[in-house]
Amino acid sequence: MVLPDKHGKYEQYGGKFAPEVLMPAIEDVERGYNEIAKKREFQDELNYLLSEFAGRPTPLYHARNLSKQVDGASIYLKREDLLHGGAHKINNTLGQALLAKKMGKKRIIAETGAGQHGVATAIAARALGLECEVYMGTEDIERQKLNVFRMNLLGARVIPVTSGSCTLKDAINEAMRDWVTNVEDTYYLIGSVVGPHPYPLMVRGFQSVIGKETRRQIMDKEGRLPDKIIACVGGGSNAMGIFHEFIGERRIELVGVEAGGKGLDTKEHGASLGLGTDGVLHGMYSKLLQDKYGQISISYSISAGLDYPGVGPELSYLVKSGRVKVSHATDEQALKAFGMLCRSEGIIPALESSHAVHQAIELAGSMNVDDIIVVNLSGRGDKDVYTVAEAQGVKI
Ligand SMILES: *Cc1c(COP(=O)(O)O)cnc(C)c1O
Repeated sequence: MVLPDKHGKYEQYGGKFAPEVLMPAIEDVERGYNEIAKKREFQDELNYLLSEFAGRPTPLYHARNLSKQVDGASIYLKREDLLHGGAHKINNTLGQALLAKKMGKKRIIAETGAGQHGVATAIAARALGLECEVYMGTEDIERQKLNVFRMNLLGARVIPVTSGSCTLKDAINEAMRDWVTNVEDTYYLIGSVVGPHPYPLMVRGFQSVIGKETRRQIMDKEGRLPDKIIACVGGGSNAMGIFHEFIGERRIELVGVEAGGKGLDTKEHGASLGLGTDGVLHGMYSKLLQDKYGQISISYSISAGLDYPGVGPELSYLVKSGRVKVSHATDEQALKAFGMLCRSEGIIPALESSHAVHQAIELAGSMNVDDIIVVNLSGRGDKDVYTVAEAQGVKI
């Protein structure tokens, strides 16, 4: 059976849980995605942008030094960190921004927590000549000044949100309010495989270029498919992007690594797949961190990109069905893996990606030298050096 079904459901997960007033806007996107994004002309244009502007294909790099150090399986890194903007996010923002343009929209709105998705959206909007406004909680604006400035440099307007906890979930509410009011000329660009159908499906579609390239590249280099594929999970877009191509390859173990934060026995983590319960958030039914009254909990991770109390519905389904395994890396483990990759390979990974690197190091040690692990290195870590310095007690 091919999922999602026509209601956007992955068995019990997914769907469209949105207020009535938003339905026409969501259906408009669904129509656009079905009618425009599948056309050859759209694909050609997007492929042009992905290669000439964003830097695809990204290399699949054999991390020889790290593999030698762990003395086990060969570790390959899918280098999404080398993309323009420094992460996989641009695969999705270029895809959706191009769709918005083809749908005749003049303006893109987005919400952002850490600012990474806001920056990736601002870049795509500039490339395609669209106006861009990004909702951001005042609390996050204060914490993420550098990204706010980047967005401004890129000609995007950051709209401060002062309601509720002044963070991501409040920014999402404001962006949705804006969308309802301005649906004629405005496209709402969601940053991960989350939200109401068709967003999880569409974002997976735009990110699945990662897995398609990986298949080709590993066949070229090794003449066979890998034994394990590992990706970090915030909302789940880089994970779905590399996993999707291999879902049918039952012999490959797919591992999603969530933020263990300060430990799963504390309240400070982002383990929605591991410890969450079923509920509704951001227009989808999925695994969430929430209390017994359905109030969304505050998540935590040292890496801003994994600090989200929900996760994409398809991953909830794939974990429930047993196809995808979940594991966790704590802040401390991620920091250690970060340092190891810096020193062994000369690559500074994003703290998000360092969670996946930790898991690869753990697993590789107990595997054979002929075994192969692919890690999705979702982003580069230049943005994280202040955080790492602080964790090491170093003043820059
Ligand atoms: C945003 C981000 C993530 C988390 O988002 P997903 O949708 O789970 O991929 C992971 N890594 C990097 C580098 C990011 O910027």
